[in-house]
Amino acid sequence: MSDFLTTAQYEAMARSLSFPTQAFIGGKFVPAASGKTMDTINPATGEKIAEVASCGVEDVNRAVAAARKSFERGVWAKMHPTERKKICLRFAELLEKNAVELAVLESVDSGKPIRECLMTDLPETIECLIWHAEIADKQYGGISPSGSGALGLIVKEPIGVVACVLPWNFPLMMVGWKLGPALAEGNSIILKPASVTPLTTLKLAEFAAAAGIPEGVLNIVPGPGALVGEALGLHPDVDVISFTGSTEVGRLFLRYSSESNLKRIVLELGGKSPFVVLDDVKDYTVAAQHAVQAAFWNMGENCTGNSRIILPNNRKAEFLEAMKKHLQGWKIGNPLDPANALGSMVSKSHFTTVMGYIEKGKAEGATAVVGGAPLGIGSGLFIPPTIFDGVLPTHTIANEEIFGPVTTLLGVNSNEEALRIANNTVYGLQATLFTDDITNGHLFAREMKAGTVSVNNFSEGDNTTPFGGYKLSGFGGKDKGRESHDQYLETKTIFINLNK
Ligand code: NAD
Repeated sequence: MSDFLTTAQYEAMARSLSFPTQAFIGGKFVPAASGKTMDTINPATGEKIAEVASCGVEDVNRAVAAARKSFERGVWAKMHPTERKKICLRFAELLEKNAVELAVLESVDSGKPIRECLMTDLPETIECLIWHAEIADKQYGGISPSGSGALGLIVKEPIGVVACVLPWNFPLMMVGWKLGPALAEGNSIILKPASVTPLTTLKLAEFAAAAGIPEGVLNIVPGPGALVGEALGLHPDVDVISFTGSTEVGRLFLRYSSESNLKRIVLELGGKSPFVVLDDVKDYTVAAQHAVQAAFWNMGENCTGNSRIILPNNRKAEFLEAMKKHLQGWKIGNPLDPANALGSMVSKSHFTTVMGYIEKGKAEGATAVVGGAPLGIGSGLFIPPTIFDGVLPTHTIANEEIFGPVTTLLGVNSNEEALRIANNTVYGLQATLFTDDITNGHLFAREMKAGTVSVNNFSEGDNTTPFGGYKLSGFGGKDKGRESHDQYLETKTIFINLNK
């Protein structure tokens, strides 16, 4: 804790933050063509932070035109990859220099705790940008085994104009996951931040310009999803949509693509991740600690939130006690107090959705054995960690994505039943598995229908590992890892006749 400033110091910084509120198009901050603005609110206090440009179709058209122009001119796409890498690294360095300011801005715009912003969101975003930048001058093409009469070159080219449509739960980190590889490969990009959390994304534009990213290569259009997201999805000159958000909106992007230019669609969607404790686990101390992290980290506003804890029936009470013990260290309250591990829900409307699920859980017969009612602090949008017992696999809270600090205990009588319940979901983003037997770990991990299976820890892998879902959790590409570069590249064959 000694590395943190005091709450009063963070609050003073929050009051004196300077940040852009206009769209960033063609290297300039500009108002929405309509002149419209939207309020961005600090969800922890309910206070208005700023009025931000509320873009529409005309602004999207301007951003796509600027991105296309920069791409065709080759100012970025044809820059020597080593030079591009240096600029990307400079961009990451500027973020690092301004990390505390960015963390405070992220915290006030989203309700996330400052300690998480400082310890996780900022460092991971910066590391991610660095990792992908380093790949810029390490991409090789290939030569086909076409015999002595021809030379088949397999060449990778930047795809062109990439639009990234983003969620609000990790505003900066999701930018990092998409911008990192797309930028490193030489594309021109349009970012569309979630309407409720546009501020840190807009702030990035200042650092991008200062780092030397040429104008038009990075554009940012804040605004309502139904307007800006749809306009990007339908635009005939956007080559890829890289989307992270709900399954419901993800489906719309497939329609937008089919009704326009068949642009490539990469979907990172929702989840209902299981946390499976096999019957060979002797001591629950570590598993319970990870279960708390898996369920409540980032207030459960996490696509990999583990909201189904599947464990032996006869040891459920023991696991619950172990979770309660770990929860004692999880303070909730003012996000700018570095002692707090949990902040507020991101918005009033999301708070209402999460509380709706809690009420439904109770109405369907489950019991909230921990939490279950909002805390009357700050703006009133603070929901404590909530654990439901007496849950049936058919209950709504055991099936639908809640995206809040709510988890369920599901008792089973065998490991096989645990696996069956774990896989019995329309989603398949991530799964956690705890076991004392490494062979069981391998065997069950192979059987789990999820893009990431974390054994004996809760995680989403790291920068080096691809991340994405099975089933309704998405398809079309991956974030993170080398694989994430593929979706921002075209593969071209150049076939040269060598017969004289
Ligand atoms: P959302 O789907 O409501 O919004 C995501 C983005 O889409 C926002 O920028 C929004 O403005 C835009 N949008 C909304 N309506 C649109 C429309 N009609 N047309 C085009 N764009 C539109 O999701 P959210 O509430 O911001 O984020 C929560 C969801 O994101 C959860 O389901 C969560 O699981 C998912 N998520 C997934 C991952 C992952 O990597 N798989 C990561 C984080 C969040």
